[in-house]
Amino acid sequence: METEIILETLELVKRFGSFTANDRLSLAFRKGEIHALLGENGAGKSTLMNMLSGMLSPDEGQILFRGRPVAFASPREAAREGIGMVHQHFMLIPALTVAENVALGMKQGRSPFFGYKRACAAIRELSDRFGLDVDPEKRVSSLSVGQQQRVEIMKTLFRGADFIILDEPTAVLTPPEVKELFRVLRTLKENGKTIVFISHKLKEIREICDRVSVLRLGKLIGTTDQADTTSADLARMMIGRDIQAP
Ligand code: ADP
Ligand code: MG
Repeated sequence: METEIILETLELVKRFGSFTANDRLSLAFRKGEIHALLGENGAGKSTLMNMLSGMLSPDEGQILFRGRPVAFASPREAAREGIGMVHQHFMLIPALTVAENVALGMKQGRSPFFGYKRACAAIRELSDRFGLDVDPEKRVSSLSVGQQQRVEIMKTLFRGADFIILDEPTAVLTPPEVKELFRVLRTLKENGKTIVFISHKLKEIREICDRVSVLRLGKLIGTTDQADTTSADLARMMIGRDIQAP
């Protein structure tokens, strides 16, 4: 059974000067899937996701979210619609507590500020529901990298995200932390969240993802069901030729 499309890009283009980083990309993400975005360094993965999360504006093309055209002027606007992104480099303030980091910036705009106690309670509730194991009262400087990453995921959930983009999330993690992250991603998926998992690691993609979209040199090579594709096929799509045996 095909589930509904939650987000779609139509011929999306992003240029930096005369360089085309994203060349007419048309992709669709299904509600509740873990969708990998695979590609070598420089393929255009982060650029695409920065457009979906309001960090960059497209030069051409369109983004449809829940069937409606959207244009985000900032990450805050994307967050308001339910799209959150966890960047490769975390954006946390180490001297502050988890709750302070998570509720930071929520005072301005329309969203009512929670108050510290209520923020802590809301974080505990989300932590339990999604198995994040995040303690709102801990100082961020005392946390491991894996825990800090889960605080970043918490930030997106706290703002109501149900489309969550993780940019190369395993690059900074130890193997046990990767296991922990995958457990969290499965729980998010079971709760209907859509996950975009950016990576160039085939093994991880095969383990956690339902479908894979492959980018090469700013172009979409294709989207495949993970179960129907071998690692060799994915590698060939990613680099444009067979990998040499070592
Ligand atoms: P990936 O995430 O797949 O490694 P990126 O989307 O970060 O790739 O980058 C794609 C290409 O666009 C790269 O060649 C990169 O150098 C270029 N690029 C990305 N961001 C900028 C920018 N802000 N200014 C100029 N070039 C950029
Ligand atoms: Mg990148």
